[in-house]
Amino acid sequence: MPSRKTMYPFPVDGALRPVFQGAQLPHWQTAAEAKGFCLIGRAVDRLHVILGCKTCGTPTLKRISVVLGHNPECPHCIRIRRESAAAAVGAQLCGPDPDGDRHYGLYQLACGHHDRRQHTRVEAAADGGHKLSCSICLQERHAAEAEVQGWQLLGDALRTNKSYRHYEHQCGHQQDVAIANMRSGDIDCAGCGESWASKPSKIYLMTFTLPEAPVLKLGFSSNPALRLRQVQEDPKLSKGALLRETSVATGHRAICIEKALHMHIATHRPDLIVPPALFRSHMRITSEIYHRYGKTYISALLDAVASGWDPTVSPPQPQSTQ
Ligand SMILES: [Zn+2]
Ligand SMILES: [Zn+2]
Ligand SMILES: [Zn+2]
Repeated sequence: MPSRKTMYPFPVDGALRPVFQGAQLPHWQTAAEAKGFCLIGRAVDRLHVILGCKTCGTPTLKRISVVLGHNPECPHCIRIRRESAAAAVGAQLCGPDPDGDRHYGLYQLACGHHDRRQHTRVEAAADGGHKLSCSICLQERHAAEAEVQGWQLLGDALRTNKSYRHYEHQCGHQQDVAIANMRSGDIDCAGCGESWASKPSKIYLMTFTLPEAPVLKLGFSSNPALRLRQVQEDPKLSKGALLRETSVATGHRAICIEKALHMHIATHRPDLIVPPALFRSHMRITSEIYHRYGKTYISALLDAVASGWDPTVSPPQPQSTQ
């Protein structure tokens, strides 16, 4: 007969639970032990028992049928596991999913924004040493990148392509543009005909002090100073600086020269190419990063370009000192 008065003297899963008077069968104990728990006693009604987790020592209420027929899990161990995964990526688990999906939780991310996240994704990020990207921060960044180019971010692209967004130009025309192209200003407006290819551009050389290696980035942009800020995940850590820039008449010309220079380096000095694993977590780029010891060599190439060498047609070696 159940006793309404007698309660277990400790909270179980956040509440005090009544003792249920009744026999405990030996095979319940065996099943609980086999699954990492000890059987503390019956509780609430004839269907439930309280188990003690052997890992974290915390009691939890389970149905007897779950103890016998399933793999009972300790909710406290799960919470501890999720909290430590969140901490490992600089986030905090704030509570259950506001949309009620038990696979998701509400997290405060390292940037301070709150967002729903799938628990297993947070744990995978922690295991893989990745960060959790924040969709709010990401959208702010895309909007800021567009503003610099004279465009306004409107939202998702009309086409189903995750690398694109929908933007409005200063002229009022709206179109999809690839995020990467908006970032570098490589946009042709189909409304007013303004074209990046005909606007002046620059070939630049930047330096970064990454924890793994001091590196260089060679690229082109109409605004290298802005590009410098955009490529770094954490400028305080990577300490980027613009070493030099060479003006080029048009964006089209700049991209041709830049590609030819990368080809030239890959052919003549492949040892300068830095594997992406060394910079991927610090830089928002995927390639065309060189070891800093190649600075003299690459500077000589840029000197040659500035004094009229066209790397896209002629392959002469500039006077290299490396
Ligand atoms: Zn536990
Ligand atoms: Zn954020
Ligand atoms: Zn336009």
